[in-house]
Amino acid sequence: MSSTKRILIVSNRLPVKIQDNEGEFTYQNSEGGLATGLSSVYQQGDNIWIGWPGAVVADNQKLKVIGALEERKLHPVFLTEEEVSDFYEGFSNETIWPLFHYFPSYAQFEPRYWDVYKSVNEKYAEIILNIATKDDVIWIHDYQLMLLPSLIRKKLPGVTIGFFQHIPFPSYEIFRLLPWRKEILCGILGADLVGFHTYDDTRHFIDSVTRILGNTAIANELMVEDRKVVIDAFPIGIDYEKFHKLSEDATVRRNERKLKKLINNNKLLISIDRLDYSKGILHRLKAFRLLLERYPDLKGNIRLIQLIVPSRDNVAQYKELKEEMNRMVTDINGDFGTFSWQPIHHFYRSFPVNLLSTLYKAADVALVTPMRDGMNLVCKEYVASKVDKKGVLVLSEMAGASRELSEALMVNPNDIWDFCEKIYAALEMPEAEQKRRMTSMQDVVSKFDVFTWVKNFTERLEEVKEQQLSLSTRIINFETRSKIASQYQKAAKRLILLDYDGTLVPFQNNIYSAVPDAPLLNLLEKLCNDPLNKLVITSGRDYKTLNTWLGHLNAGMIAEHGAWYRTLDGQWHNRRDLNNEWRNEVYNVMDVYARRTPGSYIEEKSYSLVWHYRRVEEGLGELRARALMDDIKHFIADHGLQLLQGNKVIEIKSMAINKGKAAKRWLEKDDYDFIMAIGDDHTDEDTFKAMPSSAVTIKVGNSPSSAIYTLNSYKEVRNFLSVLANEEMPGEQNMLRKAIISDVQWPRN
Ligand code: UDP
Repeated sequence: MSSTKRILIVSNRLPVKIQDNEGEFTYQNSEGGLATGLSSVYQQGDNIWIGWPGAVVADNQKLKVIGALEERKLHPVFLTEEEVSDFYEGFSNETIWPLFHYFPSYAQFEPRYWDVYKSVNEKYAEIILNIATKDDVIWIHDYQLMLLPSLIRKKLPGVTIGFFQHIPFPSYEIFRLLPWRKEILCGILGADLVGFHTYDDTRHFIDSVTRILGNTAIANELMVEDRKVVIDAFPIGIDYEKFHKLSEDATVRRNERKLKKLINNNKLLISIDRLDYSKGILHRLKAFRLLLERYPDLKGNIRLIQLIVPSRDNVAQYKELKEEMNRMVTDINGDFGTFSWQPIHHFYRSFPVNLLSTLYKAADVALVTPMRDGMNLVCKEYVASKVDKKGVLVLSEMAGASRELSEALMVNPNDIWDFCEKIYAALEMPEAEQKRRMTSMQDVVSKFDVFTWVKNFTERLEEVKEQQLSLSTRIINFETRSKIASQYQKAAKRLILLDYDGTLVPFQNNIYSAVPDAPLLNLLEKLCNDPLNKLVITSGRDYKTLNTWLGHLNAGMIAEHGAWYRTLDGQWHNRRDLNNEWRNEVYNVMDVYARRTPGSYIEEKSYSLVWHYRRVEEGLGELRARALMDDIKHFIADHGLQLLQGNKVIEIKSMAINKGKAAKRWLEKDDYDFIMAIGDDHTDEDTFKAMPSSAVTIKVGNSPSSAIYTLNSYKEVRNFLSVLANEEMPGEQNMLRKAIISDVQWPRN
């Protein structure tokens, strides 16, 4: 990120542990991976970190706390007891957490939680807006603050906002259960860049947005009004060097030797998790019990050290989990233990990092087997700690980390039998194979550490903002509008080529509903009746429809991409050189897809066939379109045909026709001193390319184009044309301004 921009990091918790000792607060910096990674950001220059300090602070103590935190470059958001309970423990941890980890039956859909979640997000926004300027970069973290990006965007429209979610984003079928799904998606989409840990999360998010909000996605980009929002995967890493070095520390080595002696040099398995149903603790205990049953020789020779970090154990589900876990551990130890050996050493507490390092270093096998996890850092820390490269990682395929650590022994934690066999295979794995796998995993974990993660995200955010800016410089603003209007006014002979659907009228589910409305007809008439203008409608539509809708205008027309054209005398001509021999064959293939896909249909034009899927269920339409294209591609190549992929349509037509070739007919007829072409579809690219370099070419929408300018929508096209048609130049800049400002009201579709 360029050094001139200030970065504000925002998260639910500040990277500090604050303790209230009867009014005297102590502060201890958090050593977590995220805090370490982001310290490379917030401790630079004027950057700061904004968030909740993690304790409820009395009003008369707040100033003191603010002062102490400010020295650490932290800025607090104070929460009340009620807010902590309903926003954090309630909506965040009892609604979003279970739902996003695929435990929908645990999710509480409590309107009070939602109200407080909203108001706390607003509280964050207010504090940020007091600090931030439009030139800052705001990097918001995680599921507690999903409404924040759009709350800030509303007040600071141009500011750079990144949002990163550290937990999974569930598939549409799960996400749609949330009563406030629209608000959550709109909230996140206030950001310019939205990051997740895995490609699957990005896919799920884009899918939910297109299905629930109806925005169009091109690859991993979504258009949100006139702003491009990029959704991408940034798998978080750890501070690799820290864990690697720590495991060579003298105390850690001494501790390791002691531990091995204490456990009688048994093979050591470890598991380290917070108490959470997403972590698969009970499934792991089941697999471990099965292991001891199936392989009795292991008794007396292996040990499992299970470290469970206390968490949320006042919540019912966590309390139940804890009780069940305790029961299972007691049962296993009771059933298999001897006077001199016990299979599980269970700890319910937190360990300091050097003790964790000792466990990582000493363990022959690490069992990291969550039911669902956004990423999971423990497995990466285990890999980083294996300086001698000996040790095996058994990893759940449901952990985000499984996408990177492909050399782990992968398990589905629900498949207890396979799980048990994988643990056995891990215990039996020859040293050479352990080293080969560990080397490859260390390669990945060391390269993609937390500092690389920070760098990748912030650089991408900067890139997205630059792309947005270059797009906005192409958008026709007041100055460019005035410049084009002035060229227009000075010209004595003008050629204006206008596409129809998506350019002058919005897309409709039924293509025959896109009838021109009265204001549009008035506007076109005005343009056509100016004796200095030659207006040509350049459409892919069939000529009969165009003739019915626009035939009364004094305009030229290109229909079916140029298979038909109408000259200014009102005569229609068709390209007689085109053959239609391919038609039946293509029709038969399309017909199979039309019959199989509810909502799709075939449009027959004289020289082309179009398969429409705008009314087909989102996703299914794209799937079938890809299959149709695949089926038809060889035939097309052999018959001189062209496949056009338009907005929810696939059109097959002769290669000999395109809008550009047809437009040339008008270009060659006369010399013009003002030429303008406007279109939205990629079939209009042929028109743009056929224009001389002096022409004004305008793309409607923000997808890549060879046009010089951009307008956002058909409404803007109409406004722009009305400015051209209405103006009485010269020297009437004020009138021009008036016409631009008084947004013409067009009928809504
Ligand atoms: N951890 C810790 N003390 C402990 C146990 C774990 O500091 O006693 C740390 C561990 O080093 C890791 C983090 O807690 O960095 C757990 O992160 P992970 O992504 O694996 O799970 P989460 O709890 O965030 O879901």
